[in-house]
Amino acid sequence: MTAWSVEADEQLGAFRIGLRMSRVLYHESSEHQDIVLFENPLYGRVLALNGIVQTTERDEFFYHEMLVHVPLLTHGAARRVLIVGGGDGGAIEELFKHAAVEAATMVEIDESVVAFAKEHLRGICGAAFEDPRLELVIADGAAWVERAALAGRRYDVILIDSTDAIAAGPAEPLFTTAFYRACGALLADDGLLVTQNSVPFSEPESLVAPLARLKEAFAAVACYRVAVPSFYGGDMVFSMAAKEGGRLSAPPEALAARHAEAGIETHYYTPAIHRGAFALPPFIDDLIA
Ligand code: SAM
Repeated sequence: MTAWSVEADEQLGAFRIGLRMSRVLYHESSEHQDIVLFENPLYGRVLALNGIVQTTERDEFFYHEMLVHVPLLTHGAARRVLIVGGGDGGAIEELFKHAAVEAATMVEIDESVVAFAKEHLRGICGAAFEDPRLELVIADGAAWVERAALAGRRYDVILIDSTDAIAAGPAEPLFTTAFYRACGALLADDGLLVTQNSVPFSEPESLVAPLARLKEAFAAVACYRVAVPSFYGGDMVFSMAAKEGGRLSAPPEALAARHAEAGIETHYYTPAIHRGAFALPPFIDDLIA
């Protein structure tokens, strides 16, 4: 069980999680956020942005495998993928396991995150940043999506792999109806969009309002969950959206066949885990009703 330090400190919020920083590898305040990369005996290298743990070497695969393989294998024929955020490279590392993917555009606001991920987080990004299929754009994802839609770009899958929708953070524009509508203009008619909505038990506000906005912009929306060990509070939720007539699920036999054909090595994702992830507990169903 977790060893909890109980404090009577009145200044403390509802809870605080402590991670030992055995060694600080990188600490910089970029123009967008405070960036810390440190080593921890349990999680290995840990990335924190503005003091919030984003990803760790030890458990990143829970999140990145479910972010990527659920929409890719549901779609079944994705060739062009857009990732907004994802500067640690974990999402593109999983994405490029799909040989059928021909092109990926990553729009990341903070060049510093990419730079140190290449230097310090190869355990997460591997060689993904050197994959010839990658188009890396350093820009605000919200502004870029608006421009790209006007330029007539199209994608089969869009992954919003951003920091949380915390007020005044760089990711706040990525949880608005206008942004989702602009993503809809970029998405092929049978395309799928996935966004991350944090941990509903401890941060219900990261799910409820953004999901209502996603439902304003898309005809079909479904949530699925994964429990990431370093995300306090239980399951985190992803929301997947499709346009009118789009498909948010694939028949079990099709999913299994696509997974087998893709021949990708995973440590969390399986077709059975995929299907089960859409079974939500009543407290989450009540939040999103
Ligand atoms: N993969 C991580 C995880 O496991 O939770 C998600 C965090 S990833 C490091 C989040 C990225 O979103 C950061 O690199 C951050 O700079 C980027 N980001 C935040 N706001 C953005 C925006 N408006 N446009 C593009 N990227 C943004």
